Amino acid sequence: MKIADIQVGVVEAPLITPFKTALRTVDNIRNIAIYIYTDDGHIGVGEAAPTAVITGETSASISHAITEFIKPAIVGMDIEEIAAIMERMEKSIVKNTSAKAAVDMAIYDLYAKHYKTPLYKLLGGYRKELITDITISVNDVDEMVKDSLSAVERGFNILKVKVGKDPIGDIERVIAIREAVGPNTTLRVDANQGWTPKQAVRIIGALEDANTNIELVEQPVHSSDIEGMRYVTSNTLTNILADESVFSPKEAIMLIEKRAADLINIKLMKTGGIYQAQKIVHIAEANGIECMIGCMLETKISVSAAAHFAASQKNITMIDLDGPLLCMNDPVIGGPTFNGQIITMSSEPGIGFSL
Ligand code: MG
Repeated sequence: MKIADIQVGVVEAPLITPFKTALRTVDNIRNIAIYIYTDDGHIGVGEAAPTAVITGETSASISHAITEFIKPAIVGMDIEEIAAIMERMEKSIVKNTSAKAAVDMAIYDLYAKHYKTPLYKLLGGYRKELITDITISVNDVDEMVKDSLSAVERGFNILKVKVGKDPIGDIERVIAIREAVGPNTTLRVDANQGWTPKQAVRIIGALEDANTNIELVEQPVHSSDIEGMRYVTSNTLTNILADESVFSPKEAIMLIEKRAADLINIKLMKTGGIYQAQKIVHIAEANGIECMIGCMLETKISVSAAAHFAASQKNITMIDLDGPLLCMNDPVIGGPTFNGQIITMSSEPGIGFSL
């Protein structure tokens, strides 16, 4: 099974409600879809989310990186030599992690199809069901409380509460949500780099004093402020999760050595795909650090690849794969099923889409 061609297209999905974080507001997903064709008639599918404020990539840069750099480096290679394909791709261009992620997952889709096995089984097969959280966008307190109650009514037990746009009001937001949903819902708080280190310690301390029982606080300070992350981690009791601060295995090692976080959020769009993500999850596991799997604003295509990866790994203990739940419709059929908070892996080979 040799790589014959790579085609780049667009995948669009309107969102049910606008997605708002401290970094951006989005109404509509418009991502890059890629198709890898093999000489024996198989097709592998991938997706890249142009998240300029996080990875620095745009639709144009992703498309250009794939067609002008990655494609010429790997066309003609055999799917069985997956480590060699990944090495060539890595050397073809630095950074551009979402472009690489799209190609990586399409290669893994084909790799598992070649062995006629569901991808998650080939990668480790640890579990076949995942429980995802759902995002509550940052808004006024009343709206966030309403959205949280609606999510709980729809059966979600874990909420990812976005804050960081208005540090002064964030304490009130989280306390109001906890009071509204009661003690049995798990709350994760994501500041998306929106606080200074001192604000973070003060806000998290206040949430601890108010017994809000937050499971974790994600990326409280700026991604490049590793010293700030360390300051927050060592001056609070709540677990601190690094997201935008960790893209590569090397950054994961650095963060762990500096004790700058308690947990690491892995997203395929940051790592450049499953091949690099496996390294991070194993580095973390060896250091006693648990990982979350997350996604950007992605449709079922790439979130399904992330679900296969998450299902394969023991050390991915937190799931934030709500992309398909935020979309009005799915661009593909088949693959894992996303039913409320439960993601169930399917038994079709590869990622499992019907093409
Ligand atoms: Mg995050």
